[in-house]
Amino acid sequence: MSTRLYNTLSRKLDELPDPPGPVRMYFCGPTVYDRAHVGNARPFVVGIWLRDWLRLRGYDATLVHNITDINDKIYEAAPGRSAERAVEATEWYLQDTGDLGLEAPDHLPKASDYIPQIIEFIEKLIERDYAYAVEGDVYFRVARDPDYGRLSGQRPDQVEEQEPNPLKEDPRDFALWKANKPEEDTSWDSPWGRGRPGWHIECSVMAEELLSPVFEIHGGGLDLVFPHHENELAQSKALGHGFAHIWAHNGMLEATGEKMAKSVGNIVTLRAAIDEYGRETILLAFLGAHWRKPMDFSEETRRQAQSRGDGFREVFRNRSAPAPEGEWERFGAALDDDFNTPEALAIMHGWRDHDLLRRALDIFGLGSLAESEAAPAEVVQLAERRQQARSERDFDEADRLRRDIADAGWEVRDVDDGFQLVPR
Ligand SMILES: [Zn+2]
Repeated sequence: MSTRLYNTLSRKLDELPDPPGPVRMYFCGPTVYDRAHVGNARPFVVGIWLRDWLRLRGYDATLVHNITDINDKIYEAAPGRSAERAVEATEWYLQDTGDLGLEAPDHLPKASDYIPQIIEFIEKLIERDYAYAVEGDVYFRVARDPDYGRLSGQRPDQVEEQEPNPLKEDPRDFALWKANKPEEDTSWDSPWGRGRPGWHIECSVMAEELLSPVFEIHGGGLDLVFPHHENELAQSKALGHGFAHIWAHNGMLEATGEKMAKSVGNIVTLRAAIDEYGRETILLAFLGAHWRKPMDFSEETRRQAQSRGDGFREVFRNRSAPAPEGEWERFGAALDDDFNTPEALAIMHGWRDHDLLRRALDIFGLGSLAESEAAPAEVVQLAERRQQARSERDFDEADRLRRDIADAGWEVRDVDDGFQLVPR
């Protein structure tokens, strides 16, 4: 069976071409105006896991994850110093997502590096009558696209108004280029005067420049279907480009746990979550939820993720036992069927085969769970003294040493060839 994924556009599971593909993937990244929320990490994590799984399946897979560093939100968040804020927040994002310990995306383009290509794209849209300039702004002419609304499931004649401006021909039209406003500290020269690109055109251009005018998968959060992705699709199709075949939208992260709100506030930053729960717990929480479904980042979810992690660590402290025939195929089939990580995780849960489990954990950046933690030398010494005491049948002394070891944060276990130290 080849790999299939749910496609928002066709509203069904669509198959990827057979390996080696290529599978070119563009996953919308963050608008950099503040520290990223845990939810912002979901498309990042899903995109990387999917790419890495496809590579293991023999695909030539490439992942582009963009940084939106020109956007209304940045101007609002840092009036007069949006450019500095964007640079600073980009560094935070790269650092925080980097601390998840996954293999990086292949490209992390910034919108501000693509201004000439964006201007050229808009000029072509104007030439073909798909766009028009008005007082320094340029708008896309939605009425020219009979398919507009298909991705988000809206009737073309009932599309929500976006970016109100009485000078537009049609309330549905959206901005490709915006004239510079006094409160905006960044702007570029263009045939329509100083200004800056709209958000949607940035993604169409970066995707096409780094992948090709046609590519296999476009990902991003479910909240981006309209207007962002509807508009990307309209712009690129207007130039006759095939654009994305499969639109893969991940479910949103919900935070309902009361406790979380108390300790770190309602918005949980990725930084705070990594510092508080550790990267493995966050990755296991993501793994335990289907990428398309909403995910509750609650106390309960985190506890479950933590105990999954402990369970996997425990497997590696014990002897490896071969898994039944066909287990890897069962695991692979779950991932090939709409990248069902909760099912894959449930299959892994039953494994005691170290090689197999390590192979699976490695795909998700969780190979560290297979590494045993080394106890400090003084704890090892206590355990050796305890072993000596036991061999001399001095059980009182052995018990006392066991308690000392426990006080130091370790549990000593007796195994065939001596002892084992496990963090408590
Ligand atoms: Zn985008």
